[in-house]
Amino acid sequence: MSTAAGSTNRSQNAAGVQAPPRLDLRAATGGGLFEYAPAPESVRPAIADRYGLFINGRFTDPTSSKRFTTINPATEATLSEVAEANEADVDAAVRAARDALPAWAGLPGKERGKFLYRIARRLQERARELAVLETMDGGKPIKESRDVDIPLAAAHFFHHAGWADKLQYAFPGREPRPVGVCGQIIPWNFPLLMAAWKIAPALACGNTVVLKPAETTPLTALRLAEICDEIGLPPGVVNIVTGAGATGAAIVNHPGIDKIAFTGSTEVGKIIAKAVAPTHKRLTLELGGKSANIIFEDASIDQAVEGIIEGIYFNQGHVCCAGSRLFVQESVLDRVIGKLKDRMSTLRVGDPLDKNTDVGAINSKAQLATIGKYLEIGSKEGAERHDCGTADLPGKGYFCRPCFFTGVQPSHTIAREEIFGPVLAVMSFRTPEEAISRANNTPYGLAAGVWTDKGSKIFDTARRLDAGVVWLNTYNKFDPTSPFGGFKESGFGREGGRHGLLAYLA
Ligand code: ADP
Repeated sequence: MSTAAGSTNRSQNAAGVQAPPRLDLRAATGGGLFEYAPAPESVRPAIADRYGLFINGRFTDPTSSKRFTTINPATEATLSEVAEANEADVDAAVRAARDALPAWAGLPGKERGKFLYRIARRLQERARELAVLETMDGGKPIKESRDVDIPLAAAHFFHHAGWADKLQYAFPGREPRPVGVCGQIIPWNFPLLMAAWKIAPALACGNTVVLKPAETTPLTALRLAEICDEIGLPPGVVNIVTGAGATGAAIVNHPGIDKIAFTGSTEVGKIIAKAVAPTHKRLTLELGGKSANIIFEDASIDQAVEGIIEGIYFNQGHVCCAGSRLFVQESVLDRVIGKLKDRMSTLRVGDPLDKNTDVGAINSKAQLATIGKYLEIGSKEGAERHDCGTADLPGKGYFCRPCFFTGVQPSHTIAREEIFGPVLAVMSFRTPEEAISRANNTPYGLAAGVWTDKGSKIFDTARRLDAGVVWLNTYNKFDPTSPFGGFKESGFGREGGRHGLLAYLA
């Protein structure tokens, strides 16, 4: 059963105390408080009808002549036709990277750093165009791509530009040498940012790369290829090949590759781990997650609710570290749920290019169907669904109303499996011990959030959570200086910070 958010019912907490009546903000203001005039982004970047593969510093046609379309998931309109790279194309890209390796690796770090600085500055100069393109190709709200994705991508290049001539100080006592040719495969949730996470440290350490963006979001990676060309990066240092799983597999299985860096699903990560195991290749995997947010009774509830919203609903839940499980201490459960509903009633779902939009389009029809399947399972297994009660969803495009489930048992599918959508499973706990053991009761271990006023509780809880990243009284904050990566089935290896450099050094 689904329940619209924002009703003014009274509820009792566990101690039988009547909670104060909740205010329905939307009804109280006649709906007017949250009505904004449309604020569509006016820039429209030029998009070519078709794109080739970026190999050895030039855009070339795929040998098979095969192409696939990339669409705008908010309108279902075709944006462009993109080349599908086969084994021969991947081979050409790997050869180009191999040929470019000695000269690139032999450059003084200071000189390599200059190229990275140039890429970073060019990303800043073209930031608005890149943000719009990211939103059009991927469906995420423009305020996310404008304020998070693109600035962070530039920050990653700036950060690693600074490391390029300081590697011997970062790792005293060893002679830093590049690994070689790196095959890098990325997903669709942060297309340009993931490309930056992969390419910047690889180049800073003197490696050359063959990168494949996800099939639904290739356009900003192809812009990055243009930028590499504009700033005069030597041909072959960065090669960008487009395609789907078969292209990714051709990279993974190519004998001329020395290291694979993959971000994506645990399912594909396992296939890649098996393929790489009997070879000389090095491997880092950043995979799925079912991250927990824990709200203790002494937390600042308003602040926590804001963090929960940011952690699961912004970006449509398309974040591998999304806080998709919420554990709330029983004594504040009703208050948290009430405030969550109120805040959700103000979320604006719709046109991702509108600057007021909080929740944009789901990345693809297939992903929307996956989320729909989980919503059905959630209700069928006995949890109660609460939908965000804002205006109608757009008639066209792939949109999903943000929602949360209550009455969730740890054994429920929606509490165990990664949904990758704006869907939150809310559960309660009584003691800190219970919160920690339930949060750790998952095959994943990517991230977690802890909300409490007590410093000692923060450090004790964070230390005992099996998660690569633990955010304290905040969520989904990223910085190039901070390593990111998982435990257990969320993968291994770190990206960012000094730890991230290690993966690219022999
Ligand atoms: P998601 O569920 O986030 O789409 P996937 O793991 O399916 O994650 O995709 C992440 C990236 O991995 C994409 O670029 C995709 O094309 C690529 N990919 C898919 N299957 C394979 C495979 N068998 N080998 C290598 N790469 C793959």
